[in-house]
Amino acid sequence: MNRKSPFSYVCNACGLCCHNKVITLSPYDVLRLARAAGITTRETIDRFTIRRGSILKFRESGACVALEGTRCGVHRGRPLACRLYPLGIERGKDAGDEKFVTLEPAAGSLGVYGIDGDVNEFVEGQGGAAYLEANARYASLLAVFRERIAQTVDFDRVEPREFWRRAVREALAESNYDPNSLIDGMFDADGIVGIGIDDAEMIATHIEQLREMLARESSPEIIAAAAVMLAVSIGFSPAEVQ
Ligand code: SF4
Repeated sequence: MNRKSPFSYVCNACGLCCHNKVITLSPYDVLRLARAAGITTRETIDRFTIRRGSILKFRESGACVALEGTRCGVHRGRPLACRLYPLGIERGKDAGDEKFVTLEPAAGSLGVYGIDGDVNEFVEGQGGAAYLEANARYASLLAVFRERIAQTVDFDRVEPREFWRRAVREALAESNYDPNSLIDGMFDADGIVGIGIDDAEMIATHIEQLREMLARESSPEIIAAAAVMLAVSIGFSPAEVQ
């Protein structure tokens, strides 16, 4: 489906779609969750996420940690994936290359699928534009990561496939991962920028700070794992940085 494809969806707040999901978070998702919950991004990472801030946390019962009864406790700052549901978005290599797919409804869901509008109206109505725009701004860092990797790794001496296999494993590990200040800084915007500025300025400053951290970092393993993490968190495949 594209932006003009017929689509509509009425949520009847049954809360069933807020169970048993794997929801990938971007740096902007974490920032918005933090603002909605009235806490810092560091506290948000600890309270609402796993995998260093990159995945929304779900309870043993299968419910999202932000779910209160059948309502989202952070509705104003719910992540992009929650806003787009029951649509999913698939990104290609080019900035405007996007495809939408319809996701299966949760068993027993009271949501009503229809064709009373189009995909674009739905995305706009859910406040998805700000998230997609923020992700596009963070995507500008992918080229900087690629450049930094080219500067720090000699692929005549290092086997590329093994190097990237390790980077993907390290980025996507849910436990026992190595310290990585770039990944920590990616999701903890308040921690490296400070609090008290508006979102637009926060994103610009955050990206600039990450760029500076990247320039200072000399470990190819740390840079590559962070590159994979950023790509995945904003909707690309790990291959985007290789
Ligand atoms: S963040 Fe809110 S909308 Fe998203 S899964 Fe959790 S409770 Fe549901």
